[in-house]
Amino acid sequence: DRLTSSGASDIERAAEAALRPRSLDDFVGQRVVRDQLSLVLDAAKGRGAAPDHVLLSGPPGLGKTTLAMIIAAELGVSLRVTSGPAIQHAGDLAAVLSSLDEGEVLFIDEIHRLARPAEELLYVAMEDFRVDVVVGKGAGASAIPLSLPRFTAVGATTRAGLLPAPLRDRFGFTGHLDFYEATDLVRVVTRSAGLLGVDIEPEAASEIASRSRGTPRIANRLLRRVRDWAQVRGDGKLNLAAARAALEVYEVDPRGLDRLDRAVLTALCTRFGGGPVGLSTLAITVGEEPETVETVAEPFLVREGLMGRTPRGRVATLETWRHLGLVPPADTTT
Ligand code: ATP
Repeated sequence: DRLTSSGASDIERAAEAALRPRSLDDFVGQRVVRDQLSLVLDAAKGRGAAPDHVLLSGPPGLGKTTLAMIIAAELGVSLRVTSGPAIQHAGDLAAVLSSLDEGEVLFIDEIHRLARPAEELLYVAMEDFRVDVVVGKGAGASAIPLSLPRFTAVGATTRAGLLPAPLRDRFGFTGHLDFYEATDLVRVVTRSAGLLGVDIEPEAASEIASRSRGTPRIANRLLRRVRDWAQVRGDGKLNLAAARAALEVYEVDPRGLDRLDRAVLTALCTRFGGGPVGLSTLAITVGEEPETVETVAEPFLVREGLMGRTPRGRVATLETWRHLGLVPPADTTT
């Protein structure tokens, strides 16, 4: 539920739907993936055939679902959506696959979480456009091949490394999404403000972008909170003062750190002299579960160079002390 979390609740996904780009031209940033994908799609359209299967990898909130929708829209076909955790049994996947129409795009979110039997069924479906329906049990069981329409699988994963090689190999194209540059996030924020029907001053868009942790989902969320502030406590204008005041209320600092991030860093510096300190000790000090600190706060802090991980525990960097406005011990060198 954090304002700076890169995941989204179902309710938030409804708010996000209005802000989704609908075409590759509308999709901001990620120039490399956009170029590569547009080639794959144009070539397939030119041949009048379904494209290769596409795998999209990258952290949450960077646009994997959005790209899957765009792929279907660009091909002029409909999109079927499922996810690794939603498919409990191979039979569930067989049912989805056998109900596909010719050319349809099947989006499988969190594909790394598919159970093994479903994964194996998917190999065959992706390669041979066939599922083997098993009839009967034990020695008398037999597999009846059922041919499938030519579909395009689009898999999304935050952990491409977790996908078994046979599954990874069946994707003809893999697009890696990376965190966005601030200039691209400014464009995301400006575009979203337009869709929300509000004017935003460029300085305010920059301020929101620089606090969004390289993630469009967070940028859109912060924009909505700034809009609330401007409407309720400001004069309705989305200017720099409104952006700063709103983000102060929500405790998102100029680098996009929130209360938990800062509590972790402050404890690391002031209670443990900059570390090294074990994760559990650090987590207890800030009143959180170790898992929360490890999965929620740490990845961003490490990426920003605000925390180091060593075999002996977590350490502060020069940048950590600087960010908190504290004086580092004389022996802090990095
Ligand atoms: P998750 O893995 O959590 O499902 P995701 O990578 O699929 O995340 P999306 O749901 O596609 O992320 O994107 C989140 C929000 O960010 C969407 O509302 C979308 O409008 C916006 N967004 C993502 N990428 C872009 C982009 N390149 N340009 C404009 N808006 C974007």
